[in-house]
Amino acid sequence: MKYLPINIKLEHKHCLVLGGGAVALRKIQMLLKAGARVTCVALEFEAGVASLSENNTIETIEMDVRDYLTDKRIIEAFLIISATGDRDLGEYVFNQAQRLGTWINTVDEKDLCQYITPAIVDRDPIVVAISSSGQAPVLARRIREQIEKLLPAQLGLLAEKAGSLRNLVKQRFPIFMSRRTFWERFFSHRISDDIVAQKKIPDDETLIEHIAQDDSATGEVYLIGAGPGDPELLTIKALRLLQQADVVLHDQLVSPEVLELVRRDAELISVGKSAGNHSVQQESINDLLVKHALAGKRVCRLKGGDPFVFGRGGEELEILIQEKISYQIVPGITAAVGCSAYAGIPLTHRDHARNVLFITAHCKNSIDTLDWRSLAREKQTIAVYMGLLKSDVLSSNLMRYGKSPQTPLAIVENGTRADQRVIRGELGDLSHLIAEHKIKSPAMIFIGEVAALSERLKWFKPDQHITGEQTYYLKSA
Ligand code: SAH
Repeated sequence: MKYLPINIKLEHKHCLVLGGGAVALRKIQMLLKAGARVTCVALEFEAGVASLSENNTIETIEMDVRDYLTDKRIIEAFLIISATGDRDLGEYVFNQAQRLGTWINTVDEKDLCQYITPAIVDRDPIVVAISSSGQAPVLARRIREQIEKLLPAQLGLLAEKAGSLRNLVKQRFPIFMSRRTFWERFFSHRISDDIVAQKKIPDDETLIEHIAQDDSATGEVYLIGAGPGDPELLTIKALRLLQQADVVLHDQLVSPEVLELVRRDAELISVGKSAGNHSVQQESINDLLVKHALAGKRVCRLKGGDPFVFGRGGEELEILIQEKISYQIVPGITAAVGCSAYAGIPLTHRDHARNVLFITAHCKNSIDTLDWRSLAREKQTIAVYMGLLKSDVLSSNLMRYGKSPQTPLAIVENGTRADQRVIRGELGDLSHLIAEHKIKSPAMIFIGEVAALSERLKWFKPDQHITGEQTYYLKSA
């Protein structure tokens, strides 16, 4: 390790910024955030710097840097940031500062730096610094973006609350180990989530007692939509809760890439269902949910797509209500929305589809309850979930009620994933297409004029080694 990260207290410290351009402005803003007293020296100041000077937030001195930098001024400065963009001048300033022992950073000149500034995730008072030791600043920034997504925006509130409770907690738990247990419990307790979510929480003393006595606390269930497969389609909230959960119960539909994001030490339980034995399985899923939650665990029930779209999410909540187990629901991108986006099919379109219907056609029950007359209407898009097995009934009924056999359709298999396949064709040919291309679940069928637009609007490039994209048209008269 070439650089040791340390956090410097800059409050009221006199810092010198040399140069008055956009880069200098960024550095000044960073110093001001930390409470520094900033003097900026340059021959010219860009508008942002000038306005900070006009309202007396910083001091500006319009002077040649070489003329300004006397030994005394260098020694008096706590830090120097050199942002003149002039290499020769930079070298001169660096040598002077080094000779006199004042810390200096020359922007974008690693060899002219005694210290470097990391990329920062600021959740004041929590600050995360990421450094590549000057090797790859863009990589450091990318890592920062990932951490940004992981840490809730209001995390600082939690640290502040903990800070304000410290004295009280110290009195209540004079022994170090019990204090530590308290804090462990505090940060994994639901109250921590409430603080971050800016919900109302009990007063300090009640709160401490509540957590202190809460060793057999009931856990909580997160019903989370995992989206159709691409892990980047998870919501930020889903990701956060996924990483908090102690136990994760997931469907077969949830992609391995999403499961990768689960906390390393969490227990992962696959509760995949296969057609036919739903009810038995559902009972044991309910049992697992209740068992773990009552044991005080944070249980994530992870479902493909959105939990409330053909996901039986509502039924699983009933049992939680009965058992008085609290829960949160995080919506996910449902397959119709994800697959249509990744196949370039606008679900609605001013010219081609005024509305969109999400239907399922996987068993006799679901087929029998469909209103074929309204499904067969023109200018609408039908998005069919679980439609492979009953595709023949689907197409023949639609045609019987007046839909043209030439109605465009698209089948999207493994939508949003590296092995996505899109087969375009026409309604009269649906079952044939499924058989010929050996389409497997999960697949969505989109029926309506918009399906043809996919040819033009497609953009997603699945892994070409796995799949290929094709269009087949019925050779009808
Ligand atoms: N709750 C889920 C749907 C569950 S029903 C959601 O909101 O998406 C299961 C059906 O969803 C599958 O049979 C298939 O029709 C569809 N599906 C889910 N993920 C899919 C994917 N990645 N590609 C294509 N279809 C998908």
